[in-house]
Order: sequence, then C-alpha cells, then structure tokens
Amino acid sequence: MDADCPHLIPDENNKCEDCGAPYPEIELPADYQPNLGNVMAICKLIDETRKDFDKIIKANADPQNPTLPKLRIVGGQIMRLPHKMVIQAMIGPSFIKAKTYGYRGTQSRWLEMVLEKTPTLTCPTATPIL
Ligand SMILES: [Zn+2]
Repeated sequence: MDADCPHLIPDENNKCEDCGAPYPEIELPADYQPNLGNVMAICKLIDETRKDFDKIIKANADPQNPTLPKLRIVGGQIMRLPHKMVIQAMIGPSFIKAKTYGYRGTQSRWLEMVLEKTPTLTCPTATPIL
C-alpha cells in the first residue's frame, strides 16, 4: 500500500492496480430501487412522442426536395423552418405528461431523448411519406 497513491484503477479483485490497496465495497440496500419514476410509462411516452414528431417532420418536409424543410411564408418572408425548431415548439405537452410519470430531467433533456431515435432526424435519407 502506498499512502500517496490516488488508487485510480481497480483490478479484477477490486484492489488498486498500482499499490494493491483494497477498494471499499459499495453496498446497496437489498431493496434498493433507483428512483426513475414510472419507467414503462415514460418509455412508452417517448415512443409515442417520436411517432408524433416523425409525422410533424414529414409534414414539414419540402415535397420537391424531401431532405429540406418546406418553404413557408413567415412574416412576409419565404423561409424554411428547421425541423428541430418546429418540434421544439411541440415538446411541452409530452414533457408535462412525462413529469406526471415521475420523469425528473429537464425539458431540453426530454427533447434530446425523444429526438435520439426519431427516424426522420437520425436517418436524413428517410423519405418522408406525404
Ligand atoms: Zn493505489
């Protein structure tokens, strides 16, 4: 054992790789349950929200060039609203629902989780069905 060793890496016997000092056992109570809220309901909500967002993205795609958002007139100007911008405006209701299921993260983290596997965003070549 070395008093100056920072004990950075445990070996397979849970002892410091450098000096052999034992790592403290981390004991969790037998009934330990991480408090993640109603995980089943939250996962289902993420899936449902993804499907909704997928539809929104498809509806926001340019029929002439589906890889781009469609042209709209916003404040007298023709412009393309990025999919994420359109979606961001729609995240509120599902976030509030997630909160009621015990979700503890922020709204922006919730949006991130939903967007993680939204097919039209994760696969830019996915052809929108119009
Ligand atoms: Zn050590």
